[in-house]
Amino acid sequence: MNKKFITTTLPYVNNPFGGHIGHAFEFILADAIAEYWRWKLGKENVRLNIGLDEHGQKISQKASELGYESAQDYCDFAASNWKTFVQKLGISHNVFYRTTDSQHKEDVRRLFEEELKDYIYEKEYSGLYCVGCEAFKTERDSINGICIDHKTELVPLTEQVKCLDIHRFASQIEDRLIDKSLSNELKNIVATPFDFPITRKNVDWGVKLSDGSTLYVWAEALSNYIFAAGYYRDRDEFNEWWEHSLQLCGKDNLKFQAYIFQAMLLAAGAKQTAEILVHGIILDEKNEKMSKTVGNVVDPIVQIDRYGLSALRYYLTLGLSTYSDSSYAEKELAKIWNTEILGGLGNLVARTTHLVDLHAVDIENVVCPQDWASHCQNKKKEVESAFEHYDFHKVRELLNIWVGELNKRINDERPFDLNTSNRQQIIGEIHHALRLLCPFYAIILKDTRILDALQSKKKVILFQKIELDQAIVA
Ligand SMILES: [Zn+2]
Repeated sequence: MNKKFITTTLPYVNNPFGGHIGHAFEFILADAIAEYWRWKLGKENVRLNIGLDEHGQKISQKASELGYESAQDYCDFAASNWKTFVQKLGISHNVFYRTTDSQHKEDVRRLFEEELKDYIYEKEYSGLYCVGCEAFKTERDSINGICIDHKTELVPLTEQVKCLDIHRFASQIEDRLIDKSLSNELKNIVATPFDFPITRKNVDWGVKLSDGSTLYVWAEALSNYIFAAGYYRDRDEFNEWWEHSLQLCGKDNLKFQAYIFQAMLLAAGAKQTAEILVHGIILDEKNEKMSKTVGNVVDPIVQIDRYGLSALRYYLTLGLSTYSDSSYAEKELAKIWNTEILGGLGNLVARTTHLVDLHAVDIENVVCPQDWASHCQNKKKEVESAFEHYDFHKVRELLNIWVGELNKRINDERPFDLNTSNRQQIIGEIHHALRLLCPFYAIILKDTRILDALQSKKKVILFQKIELDQAIVA
């Protein structure tokens, strides 16, 4: 493999000021994965796509509620805030995709009017509709006529619409989920036929087809992934990217990402997404769903102001569970940071650089014995393998064990008490291990000072202790 295309879902711009902790989780996970592949494959061989989903009834309602001249004005304002938001999270995206860009509209029309046209049928469609989701709901995603996600009443809606015959591709759908715990649910979704409307009546804010109908926001937005990978720009280049594509999304998106979009790909004659990473949901400290009305929302930007970006990134990528739901607790964030980063890695770097400094160790001229060199190489490969399987729980475990071993070696062998040549040798061997270990931390924490420390001939203190506010401790 020599290329990697990574994409998050495009958040819906119903908050003009930026995202919540769930968005931060998905963006930061995607970014850590992208940084890893950039390190392995070179920058030019990795593309990270993020962006915004800007059409639909709810957005035009929001724009007029807030007194904007036009929905486009609202989206432009929101997009600039979201760009600031992702910048604060340290996201290094290659594409910031906006579904109101004219190129997107052109590509979407071409996709539906040329490539998918044989699979489109007209139908009088009746169903229960959730305005919040901008989606028709089936029995499985509603209870007694209430939307599971929004807790609002569904409205009966009958429209003459165009539908895409996704069910025709059901038998060809392959399970590309990284974590197989949702495989059964996906199987059930794929096995149940339903109409998938791709146009909406009486909705103006969206991409228009040539017959004047408006594309349904979901159908239109999903196709951004392939356009970002160059589907209509250069098909050979697209194929290279798409061969190694990774899509991230939350569980509530399983049906759209792992089935509907995959069927669209097959209908267009493209390959399915290579891998789909469906992550868990972040709950509050008491395992309750976060909501503005309850007032238990964790703001990622406030977390960065309090604890720093590195601490937030470490907690989200390695501290929380990737695939099952997990509860966000500042006490836990602080504990993990102080133990694993400050006390583990930070301590190891400080001690090693201190010894290098104090004893003027000539690092470049220490030759590691074969068994130590291959021991370190094996450790590095283990972490890489865990990373490449997106098993972040394992990454954390392996890194902590490795750091622990190296700290223990300093304690046990006490290089500071030895004669010069033995001392140089041991410090040099530990430094060798650090050079293999530190890039992983630099990627996750997004902190290049970790790598700079290895060049230093002076003692380096990298991290600060997190002291919790008394209100949080209590
Ligand atoms: Zn809903």
